[in-house]
Amino acid sequence: MSDTDCLFCRIVAGEIPSDVVHRTELSVAFRDVNPQAPVHVLVVPRRHIDDAAAIGPGDAEVLADMFVAARQVAEAEGIAERGYRLLFNLGEDASNSVPHLHLHVVGGRRLAWPPG
Ligand code: AMP
Repeated sequence: MSDTDCLFCRIVAGEIPSDVVHRTELSVAFRDVNPQAPVHVLVVPRRHIDDAAAIGPGDAEVLADMFVAARQVAEAEGIAERGYRLLFNLGEDASNSVPHLHLHVVGGRRLAWPPG
């Protein structure tokens, strides 16, 4: 998929407005428009990666950056101490709806397990 067709590439480029809470050289984190919990932030790589199944050995640096960003978001949002969920949806059965890799950071309430 080309950048111009990709919703999250366009958010990263600032072409579509979003509530950005954290930025690094490699990733951007913004609030989910349809939050499933008091805190629901998506961490996305600036460079387009389709999904978690498309990750390869060359993506180690960007993945580390995304996980560090997720921790920093959790700390800034005040959920780091009580805990939170980090989640990648993949494919239809997991309801993956946006084909640009995104790490969900979800917390601020007790989260059900297993998820529905
Ligand atoms: P997934 O189901 O894992 O593909 O998650 C995609 C997420 O992107 C959903 O939780 C949506 O609510 C969220 N989303 C869709 N469009 C936007 C947008 N323009 N800004 C922020 N979040 C969005």
